[in-house]
Amino acid sequence: MQIILSSANVKKIREIQAILSDIDVRSYRDFLDEIEIVEDGESFEDNALLKAEKIYELLETEMQQDFLVLADDSGICVEALGGMPSIYSARFASIEASAQDLIKKNFLPPLQSNTDENNNLKLLASLEELGITESRASFVCVIAVCGKVGNQKIQKTFQGECEGRVVKAPLNPQAFGYDPLFVPNGYDVTMDQLKEKNLISHRFLALQKFQDFLKKIDFISTQNLGLRE
Ligand code: IMP
Repeated sequence: MQIILSSANVKKIREIQAILSDIDVRSYRDFLDEIEIVEDGESFEDNALLKAEKIYELLETEMQQDFLVLADDSGICVEALGGMPSIYSARFASIEASAQDLIKKNFLPPLQSNTDENNNLKLLASLEELGITESRASFVCVIAVCGKVGNQKIQKTFQGECEGRVVKAPLNPQAFGYDPLFVPNGYDVTMDQLKEKNLISHRFLALQKFQDFLKKIDFISTQNLGLRE
């Protein structure tokens, strides 16, 4: 049994592999060329399912064994920006619209992706437009799982949230996404400076629910599926 990630984002893949360290997890890029999946869902859940289903469909005929595709759709929701950039987090900088326009869905999303640095700059500029330098915020992650185990069709989602605030802080090109601007509750440093990110993050919390689900369906214990020796 193989668990395959529907993502080509290296920083995301690294975190998921570190969190699921007991399980053999690979990117779909080990099996397929990179494909562009248009994320036109209305929610994290829609987009996560869309990504998991697409890769499952493409791999279904190729794989000789049972496998599960796991997709992560995630982003940051900033209270002062009405919850934006939310599902638009990855492409916030390239959307020709303010956070307010996004709330009204008053934009045409271009398809190109963005750099983390430009997304961070747009977030800081959006706060500045409101005359503020920080706001409550949360990271949200929805993990979707799609596949078949034996005769059992599996399609489920698991959500994790990490509450905190976004602040005006130095950018860090090595960091993942909005981590340099986000201080989780209970801490006084930004997420990129935190060694224990993978023990408190939205992604960790969603993947914990996924692992509980695996145990519930007796996935690991009865079939030794996906476990490394
Ligand atoms: P997705 O690949 O469409 O799910 O977009 C995820 C985007 O949300 C990333 O490109 C980041 O901008 C942001 N994001 C999600 N999770 C994190 C995180 O753990 N830290 C920082 N930014 C994140």
